[in-house]
Amino acid sequence: MKILVVGSGGREHALAWKLAQSERIQMVYVAPGNGGTARDARLVNVNITDLHELANFVESEGISLTVVGPETPLAGGIVNLFRARGLKVFGPTKEAAQLESSKDFAKAFMQRHGIPTAKYQTFSEVAQAHAYIDANGAPIVIKADGLAAGKGVVVAMSLEEAHQAVDDMLADNRFGDAGARIVIEEFLAGEEASFIVMCDGKNILPLATSQDHKRLKDNDEGPNTGGMGAYSPAPIVTPAMHARVMREIINPTIAGMAKDGIVFTGFLYAGLMIDAAGNPRTLEFNCRMGDPETQPIMSRLKTDLVTVMEHAVHGTLDQVELEWDRRTAVGVVLAAAGYPDAPLKGAVIEGIPAETSESVTFHAGTAEVDGHLQVTGGRVLCVVGLADSVKLAQKTAYEVVDQISFEGAQCRRDIGWRGLKH
Ligand code: ATP
Repeated sequence: MKILVVGSGGREHALAWKLAQSERIQMVYVAPGNGGTARDARLVNVNITDLHELANFVESEGISLTVVGPETPLAGGIVNLFRARGLKVFGPTKEAAQLESSKDFAKAFMQRHGIPTAKYQTFSEVAQAHAYIDANGAPIVIKADGLAAGKGVVVAMSLEEAHQAVDDMLADNRFGDAGARIVIEEFLAGEEASFIVMCDGKNILPLATSQDHKRLKDNDEGPNTGGMGAYSPAPIVTPAMHARVMREIINPTIAGMAKDGIVFTGFLYAGLMIDAAGNPRTLEFNCRMGDPETQPIMSRLKTDLVTVMEHAVHGTLDQVELEWDRRTAVGVVLAAAGYPDAPLKGAVIEGIPAETSESVTFHAGTAEVDGHLQVTGGRVLCVVGLADSVKLAQKTAYEVVDQISFEGAQCRRDIGWRGLKH
């Protein structure tokens, strides 16, 4: 059977890598893919990004199923388009993807359906936004309404920062249309976790838990990024917490969408903040898997992903039981010089070792140019180490990280630190 993975990041490399392990696979195509998917003999890159052309390609190649990685094609309606042409695709429709593509939509949805989240208000007028900040004080969180690749959120610790963020987004149009409306919300303290499930429209299948590291620097300092590393499982999500998140957040979200007339299919990702008293609240929804969470999660998945995906598109996820590697997976992102503001492209990457049963390196911003592997984007690689504890998995991952070199490479040295505390 042939499968298409849409996207070019580390998440898509990890999904394609896992799909290609299936004995039932004839070919995994990745559109457009990256340097890592180009080098993997079991994967084929396809240089198409236009959605109609992709659908043509799927038809002409006889591809049975498409898995969509990133948010942009989902918000652009790839699932609606493929379904209208009778093609099997796993992901949310454009309408369902609003849970991610509009923060105002997501917040109003959560309020309407009683899903725990931070108090908020939405603004498009600069003066009203400033007045709200003055009335509520800092810390406070300012978010561009639309998609901004993880960079449209300012957690303002002071009033000055908060007012500045409003000016950047509303007055100076820093995020264009995505920032024409902003959500201002209550600051929530606690520990974050990523809770990802698959949904086929009826059944919900939770994946292994994980924790992302958004800040650029060690000790969670520096600016927010798309994610500098992740590990799985996240010990803060105990079995009791897992049950509570399903009961209070995930089930009501899928049911709430149905009540609003939207059947949810695809990956649903709830970004959680768990406070000191152990109460989970939803920071955000994504309608896709996380990047870099996918890399450690796929590294731990033992079940055949092709079979899981088939059940997902046929509405029979209730027949699936996922089996996970009991080891911890720690994924460390290597980013380009200048990331996240102005990543420098073109550096030559050297020293990536071959995959073993303890480690695997997924590519993101890489391309093969004249036989060399080059940096082409902000997040370049994600090295995953697997071992029996967070500490040992860290050691394994960093041993591989230290063999890899490219000019200006940046990485955190503390991925998984919260896991060490539990
Ligand atoms: P991404 O798409 O990369 O996941 P995003 O742009 O959708 O990110 P959010 O996840 O909403 O943005 O926020 C990014 C980060 O900002 C969160 O992971 C969290 O660390 C912080 N954050 C967001 N909302 C709050 C809040 N209300 N209180 C405290 N921190 C917050």
